Amino acid sequence: MPLLKLQNSLTRRKEEFKPIDPTHVRLYACGPTVYNFAHIGNARMAVVFDLLAGLLRTLYPKVTYVSNITDIDDKIIAASKECGDPCESITSKYADIYNRDMASLGVKAPDIQPRATQHIPQMIALIQKLIEKGHAYEGQGHVLFNVPSFPAYGGLSGRSRDDQIAGARVEVAPYKKDPADFVLWKPSTPDQPGWDSPWGRGRPGWHIECSAMAEKHLGLPFDIHGGGADLKFPHHENEIAQSCCAEGYLNDLSSFAKVWVHNGFVTMNTQKMAKSEGNTRLVHDLLQDYDGETLRLALLSAQYSQPLDWTENLLQQTKKTLDRLYQALRELSDIAPDKNEDFENNPVLEALCDDLNTPKAIAALGQLAKTAAQSKSPKDKAALIAGAQLLGILQKNADEWLGYGQESADVDAAKIENLLQQRQDARKEKNFARADEIRKELTDMGIAIEDTAQGPVWKKI
Ligand SMILES: [Zn+2]
Repeated sequence: MPLLKLQNSLTRRKEEFKPIDPTHVRLYACGPTVYNFAHIGNARMAVVFDLLAGLLRTLYPKVTYVSNITDIDDKIIAASKECGDPCESITSKYADIYNRDMASLGVKAPDIQPRATQHIPQMIALIQKLIEKGHAYEGQGHVLFNVPSFPAYGGLSGRSRDDQIAGARVEVAPYKKDPADFVLWKPSTPDQPGWDSPWGRGRPGWHIECSAMAEKHLGLPFDIHGGGADLKFPHHENEIAQSCCAEGYLNDLSSFAKVWVHNGFVTMNTQKMAKSEGNTRLVHDLLQDYDGETLRLALLSAQYSQPLDWTENLLQQTKKTLDRLYQALRELSDIAPDKNEDFENNPVLEALCDDLNTPKAIAALGQLAKTAAQSKSPKDKAALIAGAQLLGILQKNADEWLGYGQESADVDAAKIENLLQQRQDARKEKNFARADEIRKELTDMGIAIEDTAQGPVWKKI
């Protein structure tokens, strides 16, 4: 098997991936805050880490992939106030929609999808530990992490202290010892969701949930922590601070997670796609016009760490790429793939092992399709299928994808089948004039016929 190399944000180097335990690789990626429909920028994270999890499963015997759902957050509370529905019904509705949308993009459910509200006791225990060790303090019902107590703070993002304060848009509050300190716990008013705690009824700050849930489900340290590049600061920086300080590893930022992988932004006209920019494209809207595989492959068309510009042209080109790949697969429908073909020398695997180089992997898959379509060899077909499997595409029936034999509202399939039979009969009787006549009749109906080894097939033009 090729060696896996990943760009580690923590060391700022592309490194050979060496699992802590080669018999069990552990991966965590920060999931969505669920109060709205996911846009395609949100989906990039899900697709990238689904790809990475799948690749790890090819390379290692056991992988645990954890990706959380944030179901307690001030934005959720604000959404609840606005629409009048309780927070729980908003979060369960949008978590379901998120999972359905991601499944349409070929994203497999993570092994564990923990929800923040189901881990409050773990968060409280972690906060207590931080208070005991002098890294956190209480003030007016709030508990804050004291940033100056962790001199290594800022090592992931490389931000200076001034940048940290400016970047976190910190509010000055009387209960804060230092402007960079961040909230671990805050009080809830009676109309806000809250849990009893040693500091009164309240709710967790956002960052503590990932520290608590990663530790509970993966143990520390674990192998890979992922998320969008916008989470690097402050969210991931704060996760590291909480977990390293609670465990007493003040000088080793990798004692929480060894490798940090960040996916780049999806942009529209080079501007980051974000709700606040008002330029989002929602996954569930895009699925009305495009198959999930097209969206998935479009999301993988740029290497994950690079920005990806989302355009209509990208979608059309991607659809054409998939059409070509399915066409090759269709031409190989009579060939049984060689069962003994392994992944070992698959060029798609090789490209993915090079820091998930998806543009190279997609090009390699195109080449595999070309080779297989020409050679018609079971070995080449197996390599094509294995490569597609790694990318999570070509999972549908080629005939259906290409529109062969498909019924639609304005097509009378029974009538077409009947005409095709008459045409076959005419040809058997060598009545070619009649056969041509029927073909013309079908063409006029907007139906194309293709003669194959298994007999004629038709599709709507
Ligand atoms: Zn997180």
